[in-house]
Amino acid sequence: MHIRTRFAPSPTGFIHLGNLRSALYPWAFARHNKGDFILRIEDTDLERSTQEAVDVIIKGMSWLGLDLDEGPIYQMQRIDRYREVVKQMLESGLAYPCYMSEDELNQLRDQQMANKEKPRYNGLWRPEPGKTLPPVPEGVNPVIRFKNPIGGSVIWNDAVKGQIEISNDELDDLVIARPDGTPTYNFCVVIDDMDMKITHVIRGDDHVNNTPRQINIMKALGGTPPIYAHLPTVLNDSGEKMSKRNGAMSVRDYQKAGYLPEAILNYLARLGWSHGDAEVFTKEQFVGWFDLESLGRSPAQHNPEKLLWLNHQYIQNADPEKLAAATKPFAHDLGIDTEAGPDFVKVVGLLKDRANTLIEIAEGAKLFYLPAPDLSADQIKENIPESVVPALKDLVSAIASSESTKEGYAAAFKQVLAKHQLKMPALAMPVRYALFATTQTPAIDSVLVVLGKEEAIQRLSKVIH
Ligand code: GLU
Repeated sequence: MHIRTRFAPSPTGFIHLGNLRSALYPWAFARHNKGDFILRIEDTDLERSTQEAVDVIIKGMSWLGLDLDEGPIYQMQRIDRYREVVKQMLESGLAYPCYMSEDELNQLRDQQMANKEKPRYNGLWRPEPGKTLPPVPEGVNPVIRFKNPIGGSVIWNDAVKGQIEISNDELDDLVIARPDGTPTYNFCVVIDDMDMKITHVIRGDDHVNNTPRQINIMKALGGTPPIYAHLPTVLNDSGEKMSKRNGAMSVRDYQKAGYLPEAILNYLARLGWSHGDAEVFTKEQFVGWFDLESLGRSPAQHNPEKLLWLNHQYIQNADPEKLAAATKPFAHDLGIDTEAGPDFVKVVGLLKDRANTLIEIAEGAKLFYLPAPDLSADQIKENIPESVVPALKDLVSAIASSESTKEGYAAAFKQVLAKHQLKMPALAMPVRYALFATTQTPAIDSVLVVLGKEEAIQRLSKVIH
């Protein structure tokens, strides 16, 4: 079987991490099986769908590296196709016009509720052999309803939830087209999944209730239902369903906060799927391991600390060149001119082991691109004790003649400390202050490598004359 999966978002606004997980799994399943992954935009809700939301989805997916084989396919561009199928279904008796007005439907519902019955359409306009239908009212555009099978049940083997059985008596005759002829949501999904030859529908379990209806329509049209895998919800860190209202961040927010796409992908992969006890893995490993059997059955809970930890792992292990390229925009946002100062790749290399986000790297980098501090006499007096000045003088000479490496500078410090009977902080703190007007810097020997010998000597010389 040639595997074909799809991600079918409704572009109605906010896209949080949980939403993108519904793209990640079908993508990984398609890639693992050398199949196709399709993006379908379910934009028939004209009032709520926006192109902006579509762009956010497409950008988010491409940032994570979820590449497409087909699409984006917009449902609004397939309206003629849906109408054509509605027409065929009317002709072949799979569907029928229903003239029950909104008011009548409400009355029926009220009556059923009063009788403690489940509200449902009563099949008034459903044609049956030997049944006389009511006279067609004038000037009323009917809805079109699908003739749901009577009796029996719909059974499917959900790849996550196991076997699910829904009695047909629970399902009334679904409206597939509105009075103005526009097709309804569940109907479009069926036609698309059939036309696109989708073999596996991997989606959120908020759609479980739609599945029996979709299977019935598909079977009536002669199609074979795909395999369904309904993913449990993603909960936020307080255990509520993740949503914008309770503070979920969009994928773009994570991007802006300095997260790496690799870390987000790894994190999302584990949000409802596992492979042994593997926590940190590459995209290739994930694709190689991905299967539907290892999808979790209970809701996954978002854990921001874990995501931050993963981001740190990816930053720490990143190639400095690539990391520098990813950090540059953040540095520029902080007003850093990465060309006017030490090699940015070296600066990033120095800072990456301690940083959790690209913003933290950029903030740490700032130090190296500020102009040399112009220290006042008072600042010097306060931060650079007169007693260490002889040691500083020796340090300048030792630095001048040492190798321009971390080891070289460490040796220079060691030698001066021994000669002057000083402990490291007594010398390193004044040095930091002389270099940057702050004592908060990474390890001083590494800092000297990045800042450069000449620049360091110039800055130090200013405080010892
Ligand atoms: N458009 C639906 C949603 O955004 C998904 C439908 C499906 O995957 O079948 O929730």
